[in-house]
Formats: sequence, C-alpha cells, structure tokens
Amino acid sequence: MVETKIIDGKQIAKEFRENLAKKVQKLGSTPKLAVLVVGEHPASQIYVQNKKKAAVSVGIDVDIYQMAVSETQESILKLIGELNEAKDVDGILIQLPLPEHLDAQILIGAIAPQKDVDGLHPHNVGNMVCGLPAMISCTPLACLYLLKHVLPDMTGMNALVIGRSALVGKPLGQLLLQENCTVVQAHSKTKNLADLARQADIIVCAVGKPGLVNGNMIKDGAIVIDVGINRMDDGRIVGDVLFLEAMQKASYITPVPGGVGPMTIAMLLWNVVKAAEGRFSDCKELVLKK
Ligand code: NAP
Repeated sequence: MVETKIIDGKQIAKEFRENLAKKVQKLGSTPKLAVLVVGEHPASQIYVQNKKKAAVSVGIDVDIYQMAVSETQESILKLIGELNEAKDVDGILIQLPLPEHLDAQILIGAIAPQKDVDGLHPHNVGNMVCGLPAMISCTPLACLYLLKHVLPDMTGMNALVIGRSALVGKPLGQLLLQENCTVVQAHSKTKNLADLARQADIIVCAVGKPGLVNGNMIKDGAIVIDVGINRMDDGRIVGDVLFLEAMQKASYITPVPGGVGPMTIAMLLWNVVKAAEGRFSDCKELVLKK
C-alpha cells in the first residue's frame, strides 16, 4: 500500500490568492470583472457570490449584472458590446448554465477575446490548442496547477482524462499534451475505462458521476485529480472518485470539496489580473499564456 497525500486545493488556492493580491497592489489601479447572471438559478447565485468574495479579497472589483430569466439574447449582446468597450472592465464572465432560449456559444463568442477570462471564446480555445498565447479556461488550469504542485515535470507520463467537455475535459487533454504527457481522452462511449485507468500515471475525472472511479481502477502510486461535483441525497458533496478506496492506491489525490473547486476560482482571478496587466501595460499581447 502506498502512502497517499491529499492535495489541499483550499490551502494552495489561499496561498495563490495571497500572492496574487500582492501583484494586484503593484498594478497601481483596480482590475474589474463583470459577471453576467441570467435568472436566479440557486447554485449559480452561490457560485457568483463565492467568486465575488474571492475577487474582493485580492483587490479585484466585481460588477454583477443580474438579469431576469426572460432577458433577450439581443439585450445581452448589447451589454457585452458595451462591456467590451468599457476601458475600466478587464474581464467579462457569463455565469453558466443559461436559460434555454439563450445561445451560450453566441454570447461567449461576442466577448472580446482579451476579456474572456473564462477562456471559452473560440479564439482563446484555438490559440491554446496551437500553443499560442491564450486565456485558458479556469478548471483545466486549476487541474494543471495542482498537478504541477506535486509533479513539476510530467514528461512521458500516461494521463487519462475522463470527460471531453469544452469546459474541462478537452482543454485539459490539450494542456497535458503540451506537458508531454501521453494523453488518453475517455468519454461516455469509451468501452474499457477500467483497463485504461489502470495504465494511467495521472487520472483526471471530470464527469459528474459519483463512484465512477474506484480503487481497483487506480494503479499504485498514480495521481488522481477529481473534478466532479455531485450532491448526494443526504446533502453531502462528493466527487467522481471513491475517495477512501482511491486513498489505498494513489500517491496524491484531490478531495471534493476542497480540491479543484477553490483552485478554479483562484485561476479565474489570475486570468482577470493577466487581462488587467495587458490593459495597464498597453501591450499588444493582451492574452497571455498560463
Ligand atoms: P459535462 O459537460 O456534462 O461533460 C461530462 C463528460 O463526461 C462528457 O464528456 C461525457 O461524455 C463524459 N461521461 C459521461 N458519462 C461517462 C462515463 N460513464 N464514462 C466516461 N465518461 C463519461 O460536464 P463538465 O462541465 O465537464 O463537468 C464535469 C464535472 O465536473 C461535473 O460534476 C461538474 O459539476 C464538475 N465541474 C467542477 C468544476 C470545479 O471547479 N471543481 C468546474 C467545472 C465542472 P460524452 O461527451 O460522450 O457525453
């Protein structure tokens, strides 16, 4: 049995935010994030308040644009256009999910790429895939940061990414490829998930199914990053990985809660600061890598 160490995302994110706060002080002005919220989805309200609290703690201003659930695509596009032009706004974030009558792709595509702090604009996604400067989406960036915290050089590692969403799985697969991992990307149609998992030095699970990864699927000494967030009937929040079983096998593992979640918010703030640095230095390269 290997001795498993927990990757304490909460503590790592706290230290990261403290360093970021020092960076913000040196900017000489206050970065600003605009958050667009449509409707009153309870989870979204909590996420937005958490982001605001974290942003304020490092010295970033947050303007929340709370809109009615019936808000039209045209009026949101108009607002995005105004925020794109606003000199004092560095980052724009659309809180997902959106009501069904709205097209998230069109709205995200309307954000100026240099203000797309969620890293979801096709320009940023394309640049990231090409290894060019880009805003990179926050959760993949958080996974990479936590991985690098325990394994600075991932060259030659077999990495299994479970999930292929545009938000998490796909960009993370690309980032790990750029870290010289040999990446296998699994999804709902993958047939031999357990076999693939047992060959992996790194497993990242981003699916949203509790218990998808159990101890028998984990190679001794593997590193496990659990992105999943699942609310159980008894109110507990758990990941996709059976934590206690995984603890018998993995060398490192992220807990849920307290793993990828806090780091994701820290990475959002980092993207806002990067965008603000572009504004203050007036440099041409407004979108900066990592
Ligand atoms: P998503 O868009 O629903 O994507 C889920 C992915 O899982 C899809 O690619 C799907 O495959 C795949 N999948 C479904 N069942 C599978 C199975 N049995 N075996 C292998 N793959 C399977 O979800 P998401 O936005 O990527 O989020 C994934 C999870 O991460 C959720 O629990 C979410 O709440 C959580 N999350 C956490 C954070 C954080 O900050 N901690 C941030 C974002 C998301 P197909 O493509 O074939 O359908």
